[in-house]
Amino acid sequence: MGTGTDTLTATAREAVASACAQVRDGGDGDEVDGVRPGLVARPADTDQVAEVLRAAAAHGLTVVPRGRGTKLSWGTAPRSADVLLDVSGLDRVLEHAAGDLIVATQAGARLADVQQVVGEGGQWLALDETVPGASIGGTLAANTSGPRRVATGTARDLLIGVTVVRADGVVAKAGGKVVKNVAGYDLGKLVIGSAGTLAVVVDATFRLHPVAPARRWVTVAVDDAARAGALSQDVVHAQVVPSAVEVDWTPAGDGSVSVLLEGREDGVVARADAVRRLLGDAATVGTDAPAAGATYPWDLTATGDLRATALKLTFVLSGLTDVLAAAGAAGASVRGSAGAGVAYAALPSDRPAEEVAAAVDRLRAACASHGGTAVVVDAPAAVKAAVDVWGPVPALDLMRRVKDQFDPDHRLSPGRYVGGI
Ligand SMILES: Cc1cc2nc3c(=O)[nH]c(=O)nc-3n(C[C@H](O)[C@H](O)[C@H](O)COP(=O)(O)OP(=O)(O)OC[C@H]3O[C@@H](n4cnc5c(N)ncnc54)[C@H](O)[C@@H]3O)c2cc1C
Repeated sequence: MGTGTDTLTATAREAVASACAQVRDGGDGDEVDGVRPGLVARPADTDQVAEVLRAAAAHGLTVVPRGRGTKLSWGTAPRSADVLLDVSGLDRVLEHAAGDLIVATQAGARLADVQQVVGEGGQWLALDETVPGASIGGTLAANTSGPRRVATGTARDLLIGVTVVRADGVVAKAGGKVVKNVAGYDLGKLVIGSAGTLAVVVDATFRLHPVAPARRWVTVAVDDAARAGALSQDVVHAQVVPSAVEVDWTPAGDGSVSVLLEGREDGVVARADAVRRLLGDAATVGTDAPAAGATYPWDLTATGDLRATALKLTFVLSGLTDVLAAAGAAGASVRGSAGAGVAYAALPSDRPAEEVAAAVDRLRAACASHGGTAVVVDAPAAVKAAVDVWGPVPALDLMRRVKDQFDPDHRLSPGRYVGGI
C-alpha cells in the first residue's frame, strides 16, 4: 500500500513542522487501514490545527484526522495520508453547565472522560461507548450509537454546537455558542458520520440528560428468529417506554432479547414487571446490563487480516425476524438495537473473501427488503477488495457537491467515504 511519504518534500515537511509543536515521522502503529502516513502532527490547540491544515493546503498534502485511533481502519482505506492529524492533544472538557444540561468539550477528549466529568453532576452525554476509548471527534465523525439510542437518539439529536477547521485552515463554528455560522449548511449535521472527509472537528457542545435514579434489565433467552422478532415488537408496542431493546444473536439461530427500563424506582419496577410478563416466565429481571454491554459483536482488538468483517445493519423494526434469519444463513453473529432497527453483524476473519461477499449480499438483500442498508464498516483488506463496502448509495451527487465545496482539492481523508469521496 502506498504512503504519503513520497509527496512530502523537505519544504512541505518544514511547513508542517513549523505549524505545530509536535511533529514526527509516521511509524508503526500510525497506519490508517494499511496506509502509513508521512508525518504525524499532534496540535496543542485549534490554532495549530488550522496552521497544519493551511500548511497542508499550501503544499498539496493529504490529511487524515485521528481521534484515539480505536477503529481507524473502518471505512475505506484513504488513497493517501501525507499527514496524520492526531487531535488527541485537544483533550479538555471545556465547560460543564450542569444547570443548563450542557457540556462543551474538545474533540480529542475521550467520551469516557466526558462522562466522568458530567457524571459527577448526576448527568450523562447520552451516547453509549460502543468502542472503549473512543474520542468525541471520532464518535461524531463515525456517528457511533448504541443501545440507548432508542430513548435518546444519536449524536444528531444531542449536538448543539460544533467548531471545525476546514481543509483550507479556516475555523468555522455552528450552533450553540456561535461565533460565525457557515451560511447555508448545518455544519453539525454534516460532520456527523463524515468519517473525517469534510472538516476536522476541534470542539463540540452537547445537551445532557440526567442519569436515571433506577434501572432494570429484563432478559430472556430465545431460540428462534421469529420469536425474537415477535417479542421485540410486543415490547416496542407496549406502554413501557424502554430505553433499550437489544438483541444478541448467534449464527446457530439463538440468542437473547434484553430490555432496559429507566426512571424512578417505583415506576421502573412496575414497567420491568410488565416487560417480564411480555417476555415470558423464563425472563430474568436485574440491574446488570447484558454481559456484552454496548459493544459490537466482534473482537475490537483484532487488527489486519485477523479482523472480522463488521457490518452495520439498518431495517424497519418489523424486519428483525428476516434480518436475523438472513444472518443465520450467512453465518453472521448479530448484536444491536431491535428497538431502533440498527444492529451490527460480524463474519469470522477466516472465511474466504468470496464467501464473505456472498454473505454480505444476503444480508444486504434482507435489510433492503425492510427499508434499510447493510454497510461494511471494517474488514480485512482482501474482503474490502472483494465486496462493495458501502452498497447502493442514494444522493451520491449531493454528497459529492458538499465535498467539493468543503474540500475542493479532496485533501481530507481522500477516498474514505462513499463513492471514493
Ligand atoms: C467510515 C466509518 C463509519 C463508521 N460507522 C459507524 C457506525 O455507523 N456506527 C458506529 O457505532 N460506529 C461507527 N464507526 C466507528 C466507531 O464509532 C469508532 O470506532 C469510534 O468512533 C472511533 O473513535 P476514535 O476516537 O477512536 O476515532 P478514530 O478511530 O481515531 O477515528 C474515527 C474516524 O473519525 C475521524 N476523526 C477522528 N477525529 C476526528 C476529528 N476531530 N475531526 C474529524 N474527523 C475525525 C477519523 O479520521 C476516522 O475516519 C465508523 C467508523 C468509520 C471510520
